[in-house]
Order: sequence, then C-alpha cells, then structure tokens
Amino acid sequence: MRFDYHMHTPLCGHAAGSPTEFAREAVKKGLSEIGFSDHNPMPTQYDEWRMAPDAFPEYLALVNEARECVPQLVVKLGLEADYIAGFEEHVRFLSGQADFDYLIGSVHYITPDWDVDNPSKLERWKDQPVEETWKQYFRCVAESAQSGLFDIIGHPDLCKKFTHIPEGDLLRFYAPALEAIADNRVCIEINTSGRHKPAKEAYPNKLFLEEALRRDIPIVISSDAHAPQEVGRDFDWAKQFAWDIGYREVQRFSRRKRSPHSIADF
Ligand SMILES: [Zn+2]
Ligand SMILES: [Zn+2]
Repeated sequence: MRFDYHMHTPLCGHAAGSPTEFAREAVKKGLSEIGFSDHNPMPTQYDEWRMAPDAFPEYLALVNEARECVPQLVVKLGLEADYIAGFEEHVRFLSGQADFDYLIGSVHYITPDWDVDNPSKLERWKDQPVEETWKQYFRCVAESAQSGLFDIIGHPDLCKKFTHIPEGDLLRFYAPALEAIADNRVCIEINTSGRHKPAKEAYPNKLFLEEALRRDIPIVISSDAHAPQEVGRDFDWAKQFAWDIGYREVQRFSRRKRSPHSIADF
C-alpha cells in the first residue's frame, strides 16, 4: 500500500483541482490512502499563499466531500502549519479545531516577513550572506521540532530551492536541526517536489537523509501536490532513494499517532 500525506487545495490560492479530483487521481495511481495538508490559516491574512482566516470550515468540508465521493480511498486530515516564532499558541489552537491525523510543521519564514521559498522575494537573498540565511533557516527547523507542535517536519532543507547553497560541508547546518528532530522524536518527510524546482533534488538531500537515518529519525514520502496530476509523483524514485540510504520503514499516521509500514510494500 502506498500513501501520500502532503497535498493542497485551491483554498491556498496557488493549487488547482478539488480534493475529490486529487482523491480520484490517487485511486487511478493505485494509492490506498492520502491526506490533505493545506497551508494553515493565520489569525489575520498573513500572506497571499494560504487559506483565509475564516476558510477552515470550508477546508474540512472539502476533505469530507473527497471522503464521500471516493469511498474506496482512505482520506486523512492534516495541515501544513507554518512554524513562525510567536505563533506557537495559534498553531496549538488550530490543532484542537479538528480531529487531525497529523500536523506537518514547515519553515517557510525565517523572519516574520521573509518566506525564503517565495519567488517574489528572490532579491532578499542579496541582503545577507547565504551562510547566515541557512543558519537562520535550520535554527527555525530546530525550533519547530522543539515546539512539540508537529508530527512531521516538512521539506527539511527548503532553503536550497533557488540554488543559493553555501560552500563546504553542509552538515554544519544540518546537524543541530537533526539533533533537535531526533531528541523530540519527530518524523521528517522526503518531499519529491524539490526535484521539479530549480534545486532539482528532493527535500531533503542525500546527506541530510543519511544523517537522519543515523539518528533513527522516521520518514514519510510525500509529493506536496498542488495539482491532481502531482499526487504520488516520483514515489518509485523516492522509495528507491530511501531504500538505498538504508531506510526500511515509512510511517503511517492516524489521529496523530504513527505506525511503521514496510518500504518494501510501499
Ligand atoms: Zn503551497
Ligand atoms: Zn511547504
């Protein structure tokens, strides 16, 4: 059985296709389970790429509609919640607003107004050395793991998206984040969408994942689909990637509890 826990809905303003269409596509591709994890609402309209502050009930309704229209598929409820220092209580509040199967904690913002993966803010990369930006990014990833708010850390090395990559051994950035993730027993995702971005490789890269395995950090494999045809994208590749590094299990989530599933059967 194969499952994909990272997918979006049109409520975030940059995804196409209804959850029901995502679900039908998943069935077509032979998946047995999917989960929606749209970008979380903020107390006020924070940016232009997430559901509106009052859209959460509609999100739940759309996920339920997919469940009803495609009954042969298990449809889980998740959320991709931004980790932004100062909004921990808001995320905690959101986590109590529905019966979530999992929460993905993602760092997009390294300061309250710089989302490093936003193509409209590429100029910001010139404001400081890449070294400093990466330090800030992975410091936020560590904090997101320490917050205790999340089950899965999303796209753990997203800061490489536009190929701004510091010189030398990148483990100096990864190690503190990996320690925090391991200490707090959080899972990470292999997010295949990075292969279709300028970085042209999955999040995270091979070194990060090797170091994650050394620390017994569990994984899920996710597409981060923003359109139905992206559901389960590159999963054969990702399965082999994880296997070659030495992973033998991926995690399933239900009501915020995880259970291992053999990669061989994925
Ligand atoms: Zn998105
Ligand atoms: Zn994301």
